[in-house]
Amino acid sequence: MPKLIFYGGVNEVGGNKVFLEDQDTRLYLDMGKSYSQRNRFFKEPFLTPRDQNDLLELGILDPLPDLFRMQAPGQVRPVDAVLLSHAHSDHADYISLIHPLIPVYLGEMSKVILDSVAATSFRTFENNWSENQFRLFQPGQHFTIGKLEVEPFPVDHAIPGSFAFILHTTAGPLVYTGDFRLHGPRADLCETFLQRAAELKPIALISEATNFCQPPLLVEEEIQGKLEGLFTASPGIVLISFWFRDFERYRTILQAAQTAGRKFVLSLKQAYFLRALERVPSSAQGASPISLEDPFLFAFVRRRGCVYGWELEMRDYLAKRGKIVSIDQIRANQSHYLFSLSDFDLPELLRLKPQPGSLYVRAMSEPFNGEMEEESDRQANWLDAFGLPSYFLHGSAHVLPHELRQAIARVQPKKLFLIHSEKPEAMARYLTGTAGEIVVPARGHPYEL
Ligand SMILES: [Zn+2]
Ligand SMILES: [Zn+2]
Repeated sequence: MPKLIFYGGVNEVGGNKVFLEDQDTRLYLDMGKSYSQRNRFFKEPFLTPRDQNDLLELGILDPLPDLFRMQAPGQVRPVDAVLLSHAHSDHADYISLIHPLIPVYLGEMSKVILDSVAATSFRTFENNWSENQFRLFQPGQHFTIGKLEVEPFPVDHAIPGSFAFILHTTAGPLVYTGDFRLHGPRADLCETFLQRAAELKPIALISEATNFCQPPLLVEEEIQGKLEGLFTASPGIVLISFWFRDFERYRTILQAAQTAGRKFVLSLKQAYFLRALERVPSSAQGASPISLEDPFLFAFVRRRGCVYGWELEMRDYLAKRGKIVSIDQIRANQSHYLFSLSDFDLPELLRLKPQPGSLYVRAMSEPFNGEMEEESDRQANWLDAFGLPSYFLHGSAHVLPHELRQAIARVQPKKLFLIHSEKPEAMARYLTGTAGEIVVPARGHPYEL
Protein backbone atom coordinates (compact mmCIF):
# COMPACT_ATOMS: atom_id res chain seq x y z
CA MET A 1 0.00 0.00 0.00
CA PRO A 2 1.30 3.49 -0.78
CA LYS A 3 2.38 5.41 2.28
CA LEU A 4 2.62 9.12 3.04
CA ILE A 5 4.64 10.80 5.77
CA PHE A 6 4.46 14.56 6.33
CA TYR A 7 7.74 16.05 7.55
CA GLY A 8 6.80 19.69 7.05
CA GLY A 9 3.82 21.90 6.33
CA VAL A 10 2.18 20.33 9.39
CA ASN A 11 0.39 22.95 11.48
CA GLU A 12 2.49 25.56 9.73
CA VAL A 13 2.40 27.60 6.55
CA GLY A 14 5.17 26.27 4.35
CA GLY A 15 8.11 23.97 4.90
CA ASN A 16 6.36 21.27 2.84
CA LYS A 17 8.23 17.95 2.77
CA VAL A 18 5.95 15.03 1.99
CA PHE A 19 7.39 11.54 1.66
CA LEU A 20 5.58 9.13 -0.66
CA GLU A 21 6.44 5.44 -0.90
CA ASP A 22 4.70 3.16 -3.39
CA GLN A 23 6.29 -0.27 -3.71
CA ASP A 24 9.84 0.38 -4.96
CA THR A 25 9.31 4.05 -5.70
CA ARG A 26 10.06 6.63 -3.06
CA LEU A 27 10.04 10.38 -3.45
CA TYR A 28 9.46 13.66 -1.68
CA LEU A 29 6.91 16.24 -2.70
CA ASP A 30 8.67 19.57 -2.14
CA MET A 31 11.65 20.23 0.11
CA GLY A 32 10.77 23.50 1.79
CA LYS A 33 12.44 25.55 4.44
CA SER A 34 10.25 25.86 7.52
CA TYR A 35 10.35 29.49 8.60
CA SER A 36 8.12 28.99 11.65
CA GLN A 37 10.40 26.27 13.05
CA ARG A 38 13.60 28.07 12.11
CA ASN A 39 12.49 31.43 13.52
CA ARG A 40 12.07 29.84 16.95
CA PHE A 41 15.86 29.64 17.19
CA PHE A 42 17.46 31.83 14.53
CA LYS A 43 17.35 35.35 13.17
CA GLU A 44 19.27 36.84 10.25
CA PRO A 45 21.94 37.99 9.85
CA PHE A 46 23.92 37.08 12.95
CA LEU A 47 22.07 34.24 14.61
CA THR A 48 22.11 31.58 11.91
CA PRO A 49 22.60 27.82 11.82
CA ARG A 50 26.12 26.60 11.10
CA ASP A 51 25.14 23.49 9.19
CA GLN A 52 22.46 20.88 8.71
CA ASN A 53 23.29 19.23 12.05
CA ASP A 54 22.16 22.36 13.88
CA LEU A 55 18.77 22.10 12.19
CA LEU A 56 18.50 18.41 13.07
CA GLU A 57 19.62 18.81 16.67
CA LEU A 58 17.12 21.57 17.33
CA GLY A 59 14.28 19.61 15.72
CA ILE A 60 13.81 22.25 12.99
CA LEU A 61 14.40 19.46 10.51
CA ASP A 62 13.58 15.76 10.87
CA PRO A 63 16.16 13.12 9.92
CA LEU A 64 14.40 12.49 6.62
CA PRO A 65 14.93 8.91 5.43
CA ASP A 66 17.47 8.27 2.66
CA LEU A 67 17.87 11.83 1.58
CA PHE A 68 20.77 13.71 3.13
CA ARG A 69 24.39 14.15 2.26
CA MET A 70 25.60 12.79 5.55
CA GLN A 71 24.30 9.30 4.73
CA ALA A 72 27.04 7.74 2.65
CA PRO A 73 25.93 6.29 -0.68
CA GLY A 74 25.98 2.52 -0.49
CA GLN A 75 24.76 2.47 3.10
CA VAL A 76 21.25 3.37 2.08
CA ARG A 77 19.41 3.47 -1.19
CA PRO A 78 18.59 7.12 -1.76
CA VAL A 79 15.04 8.10 -2.68
CA ASP A 80 14.22 8.30 -6.39
CA ALA A 81 13.52 12.00 -6.55
CA VAL A 82 12.40 15.24 -5.04
CA LEU A 83 9.51 16.76 -6.97
CA LEU A 84 9.15 20.53 -6.64
CA SER A 85 5.81 22.30 -7.08
CA HIS A 86 7.26 25.83 -7.30
CA ALA A 87 10.24 28.02 -6.48
CA HIS A 88 9.13 29.61 -3.20
CA SER A 89 11.65 29.06 -0.37
CA ASP A 90 9.11 27.25 1.79
CA HIS A 91 8.84 24.58 -0.92
CA ALA A 92 12.22 24.46 -2.62
CA ASP A 93 15.16 25.82 -0.62
CA TYR A 94 16.15 22.65 1.23
CA ILE A 95 17.06 20.77 -1.93
CA SER A 96 20.41 22.25 -0.89
CA LEU A 97 20.49 19.64 1.90
CA ILE A 98 19.76 16.53 -0.10
CA HIS A 99 22.27 14.09 -1.49
CA PRO A 100 23.47 15.59 -4.80
CA LEU A 101 22.81 12.33 -6.66
CA ILE A 102 19.08 12.51 -5.98
CA PRO A 103 17.41 14.17 -8.98
CA VAL A 104 15.22 17.21 -8.46
CA TYR A 105 12.24 17.41 -10.85
CA LEU A 106 10.87 20.87 -11.54
CA GLY A 107 9.36 23.08 -14.22
CA GLU A 108 11.59 25.24 -16.40
CA MET A 109 10.34 28.50 -14.90
CA SER A 110 11.12 27.28 -11.37
CA LYS A 111 14.65 26.41 -12.46
CA VAL A 112 15.16 29.90 -13.92
CA ILE A 113 13.84 31.48 -10.72
CA LEU A 114 16.09 29.35 -8.51
CA ASP A 115 19.07 30.25 -10.72
CA SER A 116 18.18 33.91 -10.52
CA VAL A 117 17.84 33.76 -6.70
CA ALA A 118 21.12 31.87 -6.42
CA ALA A 119 22.92 34.40 -8.61
CA THR A 120 21.71 37.42 -6.62
CA SER A 121 21.73 36.11 -3.04
CA PHE A 122 24.38 35.41 -0.47
CA ARG A 123 24.80 31.64 -0.56
CA THR A 124 24.79 29.48 2.52
CA PHE A 125 24.29 25.77 3.03
CA GLU A 126 20.55 26.55 3.14
CA ASN A 127 20.32 27.95 -0.39
CA ASN A 128 23.23 26.50 -2.30
CA TRP A 129 21.87 24.18 -4.95
CA SER A 130 24.88 24.34 -7.27
CA GLU A 131 25.48 20.58 -6.92
CA ASN A 132 21.89 19.43 -7.38
CA GLN A 133 20.89 17.44 -10.44
CA PHE A 134 17.86 18.99 -12.07
CA ARG A 135 15.39 17.35 -14.44
CA LEU A 136 12.85 19.52 -16.17
CA PHE A 137 9.28 18.47 -16.85
CA GLN A 138 6.86 20.21 -19.21
CA PRO A 139 3.34 21.42 -18.41
CA GLY A 140 0.77 18.73 -19.18
CA GLN A 141 3.37 16.13 -20.23
CA HIS A 142 3.33 12.95 -18.16
CA PHE A 143 6.63 11.63 -16.84
CA THR A 144 7.66 8.82 -14.54
CA ILE A 145 9.66 8.69 -11.34
CA GLY A 146 10.62 5.10 -10.60
CA LYS A 147 7.42 3.24 -11.46
CA LEU A 148 5.16 6.16 -10.66
CA GLU A 149 3.47 8.17 -13.41
CA VAL A 150 3.18 11.88 -12.71
CA GLU A 151 0.92 14.45 -14.40
CA PRO A 152 2.06 18.05 -13.85
CA PHE A 153 -0.59 20.80 -14.05
CA PRO A 154 0.33 24.47 -14.13
CA VAL A 155 -1.67 26.38 -11.50
CA ASP A 156 -2.09 30.02 -10.57
CA HIS A 157 -0.09 31.23 -7.56
CA ALA A 158 1.98 34.31 -6.70
CA ILE A 159 5.05 33.03 -8.52
CA PRO A 160 5.19 31.93 -12.15
CA GLY A 161 5.74 28.28 -13.01
CA SER A 162 3.71 26.79 -10.12
CA PHE A 163 2.45 23.23 -10.48
CA ALA A 164 0.02 20.79 -8.92
CA PHE A 165 0.55 17.07 -9.48
CA ILE A 166 -1.51 13.96 -9.97
CA LEU A 167 0.51 10.86 -9.09
CA HIS A 168 -0.80 7.52 -10.27
CA THR A 169 -0.05 5.20 -7.35
CA THR A 170 -0.81 1.47 -7.30
CA ALA A 171 -3.81 2.23 -5.06
CA GLY A 172 -5.19 4.98 -7.33
CA PRO A 173 -4.60 8.66 -8.15
CA LEU A 174 -3.10 10.91 -5.51
CA VAL A 175 -3.44 14.68 -5.96
CA TYR A 176 -1.04 17.26 -4.55
CA THR A 177 -2.08 20.89 -4.94
CA GLY A 178 1.18 22.62 -4.03
CA ASP A 179 0.18 26.27 -3.48
CA PHE A 180 -2.64 27.62 -5.61
CA ARG A 181 -5.47 30.14 -5.81
CA LEU A 182 -8.73 30.24 -7.72
CA HIS A 183 -9.21 34.02 -7.84
CA GLY A 184 -5.99 34.90 -9.68
CA PRO A 185 -5.47 36.07 -13.26
CA ARG A 186 -4.84 32.46 -14.42
CA ALA A 187 -7.78 30.79 -12.72
CA ASP A 188 -8.30 28.97 -16.04
CA LEU A 189 -5.18 26.87 -15.31
CA CYS A 190 -6.64 25.67 -12.01
CA GLU A 191 -9.91 24.89 -13.75
CA THR A 192 -8.14 22.40 -16.07
CA PHE A 193 -6.37 20.84 -13.10
CA LEU A 194 -9.54 20.51 -10.99
CA GLN A 195 -11.52 19.11 -13.89
CA ARG A 196 -8.94 16.35 -14.43
CA ALA A 197 -8.69 15.66 -10.67
CA ALA A 198 -12.49 15.36 -10.43
CA GLU A 199 -12.60 12.95 -13.40
CA LEU A 200 -10.07 10.65 -11.78
CA LYS A 201 -11.92 10.28 -8.44
CA PRO A 202 -8.66 10.33 -6.45
CA ILE A 203 -7.99 8.14 -3.46
CA ALA A 204 -6.40 11.09 -1.73
CA LEU A 205 -5.89 14.81 -2.07
CA ILE A 206 -3.13 16.68 -0.26
CA SER A 207 -4.18 20.30 -0.21
CA GLU A 208 -2.79 23.56 1.01
CA ALA A 209 -5.15 25.32 3.41
CA THR A 210 -3.27 28.53 4.16
CA ASN A 211 -6.15 30.96 4.37
CA PHE A 212 -8.60 30.80 7.21
CA CYS A 213 -8.76 34.18 8.97
CA GLN A 214 -9.55 37.34 7.03
CA PRO A 215 -7.58 36.86 3.82
CA PRO A 216 -7.32 40.01 1.69
CA LEU A 217 -10.04 39.83 -0.94
CA LEU A 218 -8.79 42.08 -3.73
CA VAL A 219 -7.89 40.61 -7.12
CA GLU A 220 -5.11 41.97 -9.35
CA GLU A 221 -7.48 44.08 -11.49
CA GLU A 222 -8.88 45.79 -8.40
CA ILE A 223 -5.40 46.38 -7.03
CA GLN A 224 -4.42 47.94 -10.33
CA GLY A 225 -7.41 50.30 -10.25
CA LYS A 226 -6.66 51.41 -6.70
CA LEU A 227 -2.99 51.90 -7.49
CA GLU A 228 -3.87 54.08 -10.48
CA GLY A 229 -5.97 56.24 -8.18
CA LEU A 230 -3.13 56.66 -5.69
CA PHE A 231 -0.51 57.28 -8.38
CA THR A 232 -2.67 59.95 -10.00
CA ALA A 233 -3.63 61.66 -6.75
CA SER A 234 -0.12 61.96 -5.32
CA PRO A 235 1.73 65.21 -6.14
CA GLY A 236 4.99 63.67 -4.86
CA ILE A 237 6.83 60.41 -5.26
CA VAL A 238 5.06 57.09 -4.68
CA LEU A 239 7.04 54.36 -2.93
CA ILE A 240 5.92 50.76 -3.19
CA SER A 241 6.92 47.37 -1.81
CA PHE A 242 5.90 43.92 -3.04
CA TRP A 243 7.26 40.36 -2.97
CA PHE A 244 10.35 39.99 -5.09
CA ARG A 245 9.09 36.83 -6.86
CA ASP A 246 5.45 37.91 -7.33
CA PHE A 247 5.58 38.33 -11.08
CA GLU A 248 1.90 39.18 -11.53
CA ARG A 249 2.28 42.02 -9.05
CA TYR A 250 5.10 43.53 -11.15
CA ARG A 251 2.68 43.51 -14.06
CA THR A 252 -0.21 44.99 -12.06
CA ILE A 253 1.99 47.79 -10.73
CA LEU A 254 3.55 48.45 -14.12
CA GLN A 255 0.16 48.72 -15.80
CA ALA A 256 -1.05 51.16 -13.15
CA ALA A 257 2.17 53.17 -13.58
CA GLN A 258 1.68 53.29 -17.36
CA THR A 259 -1.87 54.58 -17.00
CA ALA A 260 -0.83 57.19 -14.45
CA GLY A 261 2.25 58.16 -16.49
CA ARG A 262 4.79 57.34 -13.79
CA LYS A 263 8.16 55.73 -14.37
CA PHE A 264 8.50 52.53 -12.32
CA VAL A 265 11.99 52.32 -10.79
CA LEU A 266 13.14 48.85 -9.73
CA SER A 267 16.13 47.61 -7.78
CA LEU A 268 18.86 45.91 -9.83
CA LYS A 269 17.83 42.60 -8.27
CA GLN A 270 14.26 43.00 -9.47
CA ALA A 271 15.48 43.97 -12.93
CA TYR A 272 17.73 40.88 -12.94
CA PHE A 273 14.72 38.71 -12.06
CA LEU A 274 12.58 40.14 -14.88
CA ARG A 275 15.41 39.72 -17.35
CA ALA A 276 15.88 36.07 -16.32
CA LEU A 277 12.16 35.43 -16.82
CA GLU A 278 12.22 37.18 -20.18
CA ARG A 279 14.57 34.50 -21.47
CA VAL A 280 12.22 31.59 -20.65
CA PRO A 281 10.54 30.26 -23.81
CA SER A 282 6.93 31.32 -24.03
CA SER A 283 5.78 27.67 -23.91
CA ALA A 284 6.96 27.47 -20.29
CA GLN A 285 5.40 30.81 -19.32
CA GLY A 286 2.04 31.09 -17.63
CA ALA A 287 1.86 34.62 -19.00
CA SER A 288 3.70 36.85 -21.42
CA PRO A 289 6.99 38.21 -20.05
CA ILE A 290 7.56 41.78 -18.95
CA SER A 291 10.22 43.39 -21.12
CA LEU A 292 12.83 45.62 -19.55
CA GLU A 293 12.55 47.61 -22.79
CA ASP A 294 9.15 48.84 -21.58
CA PRO A 295 9.34 52.67 -21.73
CA PHE A 296 8.02 52.93 -18.16
CA LEU A 297 10.58 50.57 -16.55
CA PHE A 298 13.83 51.81 -15.03
CA ALA A 299 16.25 50.76 -12.31
CA PHE A 300 18.36 52.52 -9.69
CA VAL A 301 21.71 51.76 -8.10
CA ARG A 302 21.76 51.50 -4.30
CA ARG A 303 23.74 54.09 -2.43
CA ARG A 304 26.33 51.50 -1.49
CA GLY A 305 27.00 51.09 -5.22
CA CYS A 306 27.51 47.81 -7.05
CA VAL A 307 29.41 45.24 -5.04
CA TYR A 308 28.71 41.96 -6.80
CA GLY A 309 29.47 40.83 -10.34
CA TRP A 310 25.80 40.36 -11.24
CA GLU A 311 25.08 43.94 -10.09
CA LEU A 312 27.79 45.38 -12.31
CA GLU A 313 26.60 43.27 -15.22
CA MET A 314 22.99 44.34 -14.73
CA ARG A 315 23.89 48.00 -14.27
CA ASP A 316 25.95 48.02 -17.47
CA TYR A 317 23.24 46.19 -19.39
CA LEU A 318 20.63 48.72 -18.30
CA ALA A 319 22.90 51.77 -18.60
CA LYS A 320 23.58 50.93 -22.26
CA ARG A 321 19.83 51.08 -22.84
CA GLY A 322 19.34 54.32 -20.92
CA LYS A 323 17.47 52.48 -18.20
CA ILE A 324 19.39 53.56 -15.12
CA VAL A 325 17.90 56.56 -13.39
CA SER A 326 19.84 58.44 -10.72
CA ILE A 327 18.44 59.30 -7.32
CA ASP A 328 19.13 62.98 -8.15
CA GLN A 329 16.91 62.75 -11.22
CA ILE A 330 14.13 61.18 -9.18
CA ARG A 331 14.43 63.71 -6.37
CA ALA A 332 14.16 66.59 -8.84
CA ASN A 333 11.02 65.19 -10.52
CA GLN A 334 9.22 63.24 -7.83
CA SER A 335 5.73 63.30 -9.30
CA HIS A 336 7.05 61.40 -12.33
CA TYR A 337 8.28 58.39 -10.38
CA LEU A 338 7.14 55.24 -8.64
CA PHE A 339 10.01 53.82 -6.60
CA SER A 340 10.34 50.21 -5.44
CA LEU A 341 11.25 50.42 -1.76
CA SER A 342 12.18 47.18 -0.04
CA ASP A 343 13.12 47.22 3.63
CA PHE A 344 16.78 47.06 2.59
CA ASP A 345 16.31 50.27 0.64
CA LEU A 346 14.77 52.37 3.42
CA PRO A 347 18.01 54.40 3.72
CA GLU A 348 17.39 55.58 0.14
CA LEU A 349 14.76 57.87 1.69
CA LEU A 350 17.66 59.93 3.02
CA ARG A 351 18.75 60.59 -0.56
CA LEU A 352 15.31 60.79 -2.16
CA LYS A 353 13.95 63.32 0.38
CA PRO A 354 10.26 62.72 -0.48
CA GLN A 355 8.43 66.01 -0.90
CA PRO A 356 5.15 66.74 0.92
CA GLY A 357 2.26 64.82 -0.64
CA SER A 358 4.37 61.69 -1.28
CA LEU A 359 3.09 58.34 -0.09
CA TYR A 360 3.91 54.66 0.40
CA VAL A 361 1.98 51.55 -0.69
CA ARG A 362 2.49 48.10 0.75
CA ALA A 363 1.36 45.78 -2.07
CA MET A 364 2.23 42.55 -0.29
CA SER A 365 0.93 40.51 2.63
CA GLU A 366 0.61 42.03 6.08
CA PRO A 367 3.28 40.98 8.58
CA PHE A 368 2.46 37.39 9.61
CA ASN A 369 5.03 36.68 12.28
CA GLY A 370 6.84 38.41 15.11
CA GLU A 371 9.93 39.14 13.08
CA MET A 372 7.93 40.79 10.31
CA GLU A 373 5.98 42.83 12.83
CA GLU A 374 9.25 44.11 14.24
CA GLU A 375 10.37 45.06 10.73
CA SER A 376 7.04 46.72 10.09
CA ASP A 377 7.40 48.86 13.24
CA ARG A 378 10.85 49.90 12.10
CA GLN A 379 9.57 50.70 8.62
CA ALA A 380 6.77 52.81 10.15
CA ASN A 381 9.41 54.89 11.94
CA TRP A 382 11.12 55.59 8.62
CA LEU A 383 7.85 56.49 6.91
CA ASP A 384 6.79 58.75 9.80
CA ALA A 385 10.15 60.50 9.75
CA PHE A 386 9.53 61.54 6.13
CA GLY A 387 5.80 62.28 6.54
CA LEU A 388 4.71 59.38 4.34
CA PRO A 389 1.24 57.93 4.86
CA SER A 390 1.07 54.21 4.09
CA TYR A 391 -1.59 52.20 2.27
CA PHE A 392 -2.14 48.47 2.22
CA LEU A 393 -3.28 46.79 -1.00
CA HIS A 394 -3.08 43.06 -1.46
CA GLY A 395 -4.83 39.98 -2.79
CA SER A 396 -4.07 36.52 -1.50
CA ALA A 397 -1.67 34.14 -3.22
CA HIS A 398 -3.60 31.22 -1.76
CA VAL A 399 -6.98 29.61 -2.26
CA LEU A 400 -9.74 31.19 -0.14
CA PRO A 401 -11.67 28.94 2.26
CA HIS A 402 -14.96 29.03 0.31
CA GLU A 403 -13.08 28.37 -2.95
CA LEU A 404 -11.33 25.41 -1.35
CA ARG A 405 -14.62 24.01 -0.10
CA GLN A 406 -16.10 24.20 -3.60
CA ALA A 407 -12.99 22.67 -5.17
CA ILE A 408 -12.87 19.72 -2.77
CA ALA A 409 -16.60 19.08 -3.05
CA ARG A 410 -16.05 18.85 -6.76
CA VAL A 411 -13.03 16.51 -6.65
CA GLN A 412 -14.51 14.33 -3.88
CA PRO A 413 -11.32 12.60 -2.76
CA LYS A 414 -11.65 9.56 -0.50
CA LYS A 415 -9.12 11.12 1.86
CA LEU A 416 -8.18 14.77 2.24
CA PHE A 417 -4.92 15.73 3.96
CA LEU A 418 -4.73 19.38 5.05
CA ILE A 419 -1.28 20.92 5.15
CA HIS A 420 0.37 24.36 4.79
CA SER A 421 -2.02 25.69 7.43
CA GLU A 422 -1.85 27.08 10.94
CA LYS A 423 -5.45 26.09 11.59
CA PRO A 424 -5.93 22.68 9.96
CA GLU A 425 -8.40 21.49 12.64
CA ALA A 426 -10.67 24.48 12.11
CA MET A 427 -10.39 24.09 8.35
CA ALA A 428 -11.19 20.36 8.65
CA ARG A 429 -14.38 21.26 10.45
CA TYR A 430 -15.28 23.90 7.85
CA LEU A 431 -14.71 21.37 5.05
CA THR A 432 -16.67 18.55 6.68
CA GLY A 433 -18.75 16.62 4.17
CA THR A 434 -16.62 17.44 1.13
CA ALA A 435 -14.30 14.40 1.30
CA GLY A 436 -14.68 10.80 2.50
CA GLU A 437 -12.30 11.43 5.38
CA ILE A 438 -10.44 14.58 6.38
CA VAL A 439 -7.04 14.04 7.96
CA VAL A 440 -5.00 16.61 9.85
CA PRO A 441 -1.65 14.89 9.59
CA ALA A 442 0.81 14.60 12.47
CA ARG A 443 4.45 15.29 11.67
CA GLY A 444 6.41 12.10 11.03
CA HIS A 445 3.41 9.77 11.27
CA PRO A 446 2.87 7.27 8.41
CA TYR A 447 -0.50 7.23 6.60
CA GLU A 448 -1.49 4.37 4.34
CA LEU A 449 -3.54 5.12 1.26
ZN1 LIG B 1 3.98 27.77 0.38
ZN1 LIG C 1 4.09 29.40 -2.60
